Amino acid sequence: TIPTYDTIILGAGAAGLMCAAIAGQRGARVLLVDHADAVGKKILISGGGRCNFTNLHTAPDRYLSANPHFAKSALGRYTAQDFIALVEAYGIAWHEKTLGQLFCDGSAKQIVAMLQAECDKGGVTLALGAPVGAVDHGDGLFRVEIGGRIAAAPALVIATGGPSIPQMGATGFAYDLARRFGLKVVEPRPALVPLTLGGDETLFRSLSGVATEVVAKTGKTGFREAALFTHKGLSGPAILQISSYWRHGETVGIDFLPALASGWLVAAKHARPRATLGGALDNHLPARLAVTLADRLGLEGELGGFTDKRVSEAERQLADWRFSPNGTEGFAKAEVTAGGISTAELSSKTMEARKMPGLYAIGEAVDVTGWLGGYNFQWAWASGYAAGLAIAGA
Ligand code: FAD
Repeated sequence: TIPTYDTIILGAGAAGLMCAAIAGQRGARVLLVDHADAVGKKILISGGGRCNFTNLHTAPDRYLSANPHFAKSALGRYTAQDFIALVEAYGIAWHEKTLGQLFCDGSAKQIVAMLQAECDKGGVTLALGAPVGAVDHGDGLFRVEIGGRIAAAPALVIATGGPSIPQMGATGFAYDLARRFGLKVVEPRPALVPLTLGGDETLFRSLSGVATEVVAKTGKTGFREAALFTHKGLSGPAILQISSYWRHGETVGIDFLPALASGWLVAAKHARPRATLGGALDNHLPARLAVTLADRLGLEGELGGFTDKRVSEAERQLADWRFSPNGTEGFAKAEVTAGGISTAELSSKTMEARKMPGLYAIGEAVDVTGWLGGYNFQWAWASGYAAGLAIAGA
């Protein structure tokens, strides 16, 4: 006989673990499946091993999606405070690092152990190291081939994440499965990813290792955080953040001196007319960066030798330096995937597919992508919670 569950959850990552625990604890018989040999592998490497598990400033406007309203319902019903309460119930010590980002004091292993204990409490059956084969639907049941055997359930949850970091077993499986059941997928693309520079901007690669606080902008969106030059181009939190909004062919504007008031360079010229631009910048920027920018601006010699207009123009360029990235470092280096299973296909309350009752999609597989800083895990928890409650009929 085919073992039958109330739900089969594909993917024992952040979203799948939460969904399994919630559904299981409310009485559903849950089978949680992963092709990896352990649960929550991305959680273990997250936040440099300390897991940035949520953000105090979680709000729908910190997520990208074709439908910016979609995430509201789930985020409203399972909040950062709810996850903090769970973390505290397990005695896991945490701290705010910066910008509302909460990390474990100890290790990400504590978060995985907590989620596993929550699944145990719900009597969840785990099938690890289990490749998922054919998935069929008929007579109100999903039949899934798992490690060569068939399991069946009236509900199936797609929680296999996105293709970011394929070297860890991440795949585009979620999209293939969704399409197979007629759901649309918004073109997936790497997000929270370093940008690459080419052409005459390759010279910035010689600054590899230099970091400075900037505002990185594209369109109306801007992030004030650190940027880092790399041997391929640009990285650091400000760049990762803006990469999610950047599209091929667009420029990225960098304000290298966000702390300085407008007119500062002309004022510097009047205060010290004999100083060079490099000298004036040196007070505010890492030396190698100051030299490179001054060279590119072509203002050689003493600042006093240039008109105020010319000096103002240089200041304007420093406040909106236009880089033209020629690409990103791709899924191999992307912290998340933007795009994914279209939110138009799903109920924002339950994550259930409108066209295919019983089929759910949660976490990164869905076209909801958070900013850097714990927002992506909060979406995984919240969407997993929403689906878990719905599956258990709660
Ligand atoms: P995942 O956690 O990726 O889980 C998907 C699961 O599905 C995996 O266990 C995988 O093995 C399994 N799977 C995939 N394909 C199949 C298949 N065909 N068959 C069976 N199983 C399959 N976000 C934050 O909020 N804070 C952070 O600090 C943070 N740090 C990160 C650091 C790194 C290096 C990376 C790569 C990401 C980080 N993220 C962080 C993003 C975060 O990890 C993801 O947004 C989150 O894990 C998504 O949860 P998920 O459950 O949807 O997918």
